[in-house]
Amino acid sequence: MTNTIDPTAGEQHPQAQPDPAAEDPQAATAAVQDWLDRFDRDLKAGDLDALRGLFAQDCYWRDFVAFTWNLTTLEGFDAIADMLTAQLPAIQPQGWQLAEPASGTAEEAEAWVDFSTAVGRGWAHLRLVNGKCWTLLTTLQELTGFEEKKGPKRELGVQHEITRGRTTWKEARAQRDAALGYEEQPYVLIIGGGQGGIGLAARLRRLGVPAIVVEKNERAGDSWRNRYKSLHLHDPVWYDHMPYLPFPDDWPVFPSKDKMGDWLEHYVDIMELDYWSGTECETAQFDEASGTWTVRVNRRGEEVELHPTQLVFALGVSGYPNIPHFEGAEDFTGWQGHSSEFTGDEDSFEGKRAVVIGSNNSAHDIAATLWEKGAEVTMIQRSSTHISRSDSLRELALGPLYSEEALAAGVTTEKADMLFASWPYRLLPGAQIPVYEEMKRRDADFYQALADAGFELDFGEDESGLFLKYLRRGSGYYIDVGASQLIIDGRIRLERGQVTKIAPDGVVVDGDRLIPADLIVYATGYGSMNAWLADLVSPEVADAVGKCWGYGSDTIRDPGPWEGELRNMWKPTNVEQLWIHGGNLHQSRHYSKYLALQLKAREQGIETPVYGLQESHHTR
Ligand SMILES: Cc1cc2nc3c(=O)[nH]c(=O)nc-3n(C[C@H](O)[C@H](O)[C@H](O)COP(=O)(O)OP(=O)(O)OC[C@H]3O[C@@H](n4cnc5c(N)ncnc54)[C@H](O)[C@@H]3O)c2cc1C
Repeated sequence: MTNTIDPTAGEQHPQAQPDPAAEDPQAATAAVQDWLDRFDRDLKAGDLDALRGLFAQDCYWRDFVAFTWNLTTLEGFDAIADMLTAQLPAIQPQGWQLAEPASGTAEEAEAWVDFSTAVGRGWAHLRLVNGKCWTLLTTLQELTGFEEKKGPKRELGVQHEITRGRTTWKEARAQRDAALGYEEQPYVLIIGGGQGGIGLAARLRRLGVPAIVVEKNERAGDSWRNRYKSLHLHDPVWYDHMPYLPFPDDWPVFPSKDKMGDWLEHYVDIMELDYWSGTECETAQFDEASGTWTVRVNRRGEEVELHPTQLVFALGVSGYPNIPHFEGAEDFTGWQGHSSEFTGDEDSFEGKRAVVIGSNNSAHDIAATLWEKGAEVTMIQRSSTHISRSDSLRELALGPLYSEEALAAGVTTEKADMLFASWPYRLLPGAQIPVYEEMKRRDADFYQALADAGFELDFGEDESGLFLKYLRRGSGYYIDVGASQLIIDGRIRLERGQVTKIAPDGVVVDGDRLIPADLIVYATGYGSMNAWLADLVSPEVADAVGKCWGYGSDTIRDPGPWEGELRNMWKPTNVEQLWIHGGNLHQSRHYSKYLALQLKAREQGIETPVYGLQESHHTR
């Protein structure tokens, strides 16, 4: 992901490896400084002709909130000019300066840049090729006058004047708990208290925005605890930090799901969140007259009506189970359930015949758990799957940004998140393809053995691998932590084909092959997040918001047209005062910042002219 640029390539695709010997930071710094001076001057003058000369023909400007009050990628200068024409008068950007010396050379420079707008402080990442901007990422970092009270700005926390009846921290906390949601309404209500809802609530709390999280599970962290017993985080620990509070540096590379659950529960307490566990949201309706939502929740048996101004759905990208209906399923005599319901808590599955329908991550993890506990397991693969070995993924794809080596090289989590975002989605495949080419070379024997076992493999439609599949469709891959070897060895049996029917005693594939089963796990993935809106608000609102996730890559499950940013995630939707939050730990951490700032600005009545509100092209 830290690949540098290859301006000689026709489409300016990132080069696999930077050449440290060619680095000339002084020349790079001078080139960037010159560019920034001109950019600052031309932006202030609103001189689009002059600005055009600062951008390469093939240029990309990705903006998170700073210019557009949206998450938007502008491709080519015409799109940039359109945005600037609309936004410059309100945004008034200025003060562009290097945050630190640039890297690279005069011809290929890369730089961290500070700037400000009429309402806040920004941070940007810039790539110049031959003195012209190739990629620019601009982000809003804080709102002037509403900065987080941290570091030198922290509160005293106590009054050093002794008065009778002073309120202690504990009493103040209890008073807030009693009042919020009853006598006082939260400005924001977050539905869903997994890591996404929790991280966003922490950011809002630091910004002083009254917010409640409602979570139907008994305890914070149960979203992880309730998953199958053998689960460890799939991604390495450096990638998974929550906002503000990194994991201790002796945490294992792959923490277990229960450890993660406990961390989240402690996090909720430490960050002093207003978190209602054991509380299920039942319905939410917008009340035009008051301009607020009416949300009915059941809080441990008590019906409570909440009236937030802003409603955030944080119900999980992998939250809404997708369970296909197969003829005959109701007559199956054994246990059957979606992968999200399978805990694997039984001590043994000795003698049980288990069929796992699906061949992605959960299917592999669950098949391996069942095998480990004595079951005879068959996995049914309908279509091809991408497999990355965990070590290879860690070293080749994530390591440059999220690892001890990255930290030692000065790539903090914040910088890593920005660098990750600095590649617009149009260019990301070009940056990823070489990573997976290397993976194919490195793990050639492994892939051959899997193919020999009959497993149908892919690396994505354009060979761009796992992360692009995740962004486009949120599925279609397995990070191998051992199950592939069980398939190679035939210890997990593999059946290829389409399930056509469930028989009382098994699963029928391709119309005539019966696979006997005492247990069926439907590892068939998850639906679009707006399916939750259909259930909790209305099908009309769900359709107005439209499909969530995917960016219009026109690949399987991510239909065009091209949108360039994930649909509806962390940015204004087509339904006012309704937001969607979620993603993996890295995304939730990074993007919660921009969602929190958008909400804070609205709470404070700051003008938020949204540029490029997405059209809703697909309902689900
Ligand atoms: C098996 C598996 C492994 C994963 N491993 C990783 C990993 O290693 N690293 C990583 O970054 N990501 C991983 N992910 C992806 C992602 O990080 C997780 O899915 C994560 O749990 C998403 O967090 P979330 O808060 O967005 O959603 P969730 O954790 O799904 O939280 C949504 C919450 O909403 C609650 N809820 C639902 N309906 C209601 C209602 N009506 N009222 C109130 N509450 C409700 C649910 O109880 C749940 O707690 C994994 C996902 C899966 C499925």
